[in-house]
Amino acid sequence: MSGSKRAHSLDDLAKAIRAGDRVALGRAITLIESVKREDQLRAQDLLEALLPYTGKSIRVGISGPPGAGKSTLIDQLGLNLIAQDHKVAVLAVDPTSSRTGGSILGDKTRMGRLAGEANAFIRPSPAGASLGGVTKTTRESIALAEAAGFDVVLVETVGVGQSETAVSDMVDVFVVVAIPGAGDELQGIKRGLLELADIVAVNKADSDNVERANRAAMEYRTALHILAAGHPNWSPVVLTLSARDNKGLDELWAKITERHSSIAQSGILAERRSDQAAAWMREIFEERLLAAFKGGRRAARHYQELEDKVRAGEMTPAAAAAELGRLVGLNEPE
Ligand code: GDP
Repeated sequence: MSGSKRAHSLDDLAKAIRAGDRVALGRAITLIESVKREDQLRAQDLLEALLPYTGKSIRVGISGPPGAGKSTLIDQLGLNLIAQDHKVAVLAVDPTSSRTGGSILGDKTRMGRLAGEANAFIRPSPAGASLGGVTKTTRESIALAEAAGFDVVLVETVGVGQSETAVSDMVDVFVVVAIPGAGDELQGIKRGLLELADIVAVNKADSDNVERANRAAMEYRTALHILAAGHPNWSPVVLTLSARDNKGLDELWAKITERHSSIAQSGILAERRSDQAAAWMREIFEERLLAAFKGGRRAARHYQELEDKVRAGEMTPAAAAAELGRLVGLNEPE
């Protein structure tokens, strides 16, 4: 494709995205997820062109153990928001291969009603991507969805891996979905996950579960109270809801927007967004640096040899990294 034609088609794609075209948005995300160098360069050009239109959504992370009701919640919350004239994008982050366990995050059939809405966009996790890959593409997909006019971006993640920390860094409000357990109320929720929460939503507070849900909420409040001691800027809230019965979801949304405006007013949001932009730049640069380095045949072979030695325990990772550094002429710090 000639340079000008390519620029032209990228321009068209950018325009279509700006016009809220979901097919164009999907195509752009596919470019971002592509491992082809040419696609990646195009994706970066596209992002560059759309940058002025990004950053304007409420970004919400939704996490919790499998079966907690995340997709039911996202489906219902999404419908409620669309009824209030919002445009809702759902992105999934799932670098684990535990999909055999049943659910695929962001699976459209799990959010069947929302998937049928014109003002919704649902994108499952790319298959087989690493944590690094998936967080990078998610960050960029958020930006694209914003450029396409989605003013609410929900990022779904399963609360059992390391992806939650990465996701909590790219969203404004982080919601942990929990369920009342039998006896051990903090069932299935790791402390590390709780520490990321702005809001803990105890789901399935319906039928004969209400009392147990209230008890679980109390337990979470106590646990969070202890965890939050000494963190002046962190005051997580706990509420109960029923995603199935659409109960408590308005309150959840009210808490989310409250939280969002509070960090917007205090300047924390702007600071976070600029930190995110800086981290993003560093990531892209590191990636390009590494790609350029490995692109050289001799260097690539050397890299592989060193990696083999590290894997075999014949060399420490630090020593191997230092040797690679010398290869590109880096001076070791004194
Ligand atoms: P996910 O794995 O966290 O996405 O959980 P799902 O949304 O797939 O829900 C797991 C199961 O819990 C499904 O059978 C849902 O129908 C059920 N469920 C979800 N939300 C509620 C709720 O509010 N109340 C009740 N009773 N069941 C629910």
